[in-house]
Amino acid sequence: MPDGQKITSIEQLSAALSTGGWIDGGSDDAAPYLTDWSGSFTGRAVGIARPTSVTEVQAVVKFAKEAGLGIVPQGGHTGLVGGGTPFSDGKVLILSLKRMNKIRKVDPTNYTLIAEAGVILQEAQQAAIKHDRFFPLSLGAEGSCTIGGNLSTNAGGVNVIKYGNARELVLGLEVVLPDGEIWNGLRTLRKDNTGYHLKHLFLGAEGTLGIITAAALKIFPRPMRTAAAWIATPSIKDALAVLEIACEVHDYGKNC
Ligand SMILES: Cc1cc2nc3c(=O)[nH]c(=O)nc-3n(C[C@H](O)[C@H](O)[C@H](O)COP(=O)(O)OP(=O)(O)OC[C@H]3O[C@@H](n4cnc5c(N)ncnc54)[C@H](O)[C@@H]3O)c2cc1C
Repeated sequence: MPDGQKITSIEQLSAALSTGGWIDGGSDDAAPYLTDWSGSFTGRAVGIARPTSVTEVQAVVKFAKEAGLGIVPQGGHTGLVGGGTPFSDGKVLILSLKRMNKIRKVDPTNYTLIAEAGVILQEAQQAAIKHDRFFPLSLGAEGSCTIGGNLSTNAGGVNVIKYGNARELVLGLEVVLPDGEIWNGLRTLRKDNTGYHLKHLFLGAEGTLGIITAAALKIFPRPMRTAAAWIATPSIKDALAVLEIACEVHDYGKNC
């Protein structure tokens, strides 16, 4: 298909995607995309588009707009509330980001990591560790969920008290908007006081305002030691006191 030519059929869309990029919604291969991790939600879709690049994501979005089809973006499909599962009327395309799975850059000096939306959370953590850095987002689904899904749900996880929700770990985003144009906000600047921070609109938005294709993430010094303890306290007040002590130890006992 020549560059810039409008895609007007599923056949053309399928041809515009790299090999294996289209799964028909009625085929057996579509099943995992139509039912969520818990098995609680099942829906239907015309098909599943599996782009490998931002250009391919743009092609899918532009085609869906012209064809009057909705888009359900999907990462690891581990969200437990049905957000990544289509309704049963089937008038949608599923846009799976799982093949957009490159770590574009790790900059240990600037403490940043740029990951595509389909990078599995655990792989992002490991990429940071290879550079003796730490990406703190961590949750039970980390072997399956993706950075795009984490940011679109503003995920919390086990380190949320110390490091914040996913939103607080993001410096910049690359997003394909509903008209198929790219919003390039993939910045790694920390002291960024220029104008509106539009990235926040897309974080926690579950794909309603655009498709996140990549993110610039904050990484941190790697903790030299970690320890887990099971502590029983007689009251909530005492639990908060323990938390306060733990935070002080973490911040001032530099080796913790
Ligand atoms: C065992 C287990 C433990 C969990 N623990 C936690 C936890 O501690 N804290 C927590 O917050 N959650 C937790 N979850 C829920 C879930 O794992 C998270 O919400 C995770 O962030 C979802 O990522 P995903 O890639 O699977 O997204 P999906 O389930 O595929 O999608 C989630 C939502 O984001 C949208 N979306 C996905 N990718 C994109 C994209 N690139 N651009 C735009 N929109 C997109 C989807 O349409 C959907 O609305 C857990 C789930 C399981 C199964």
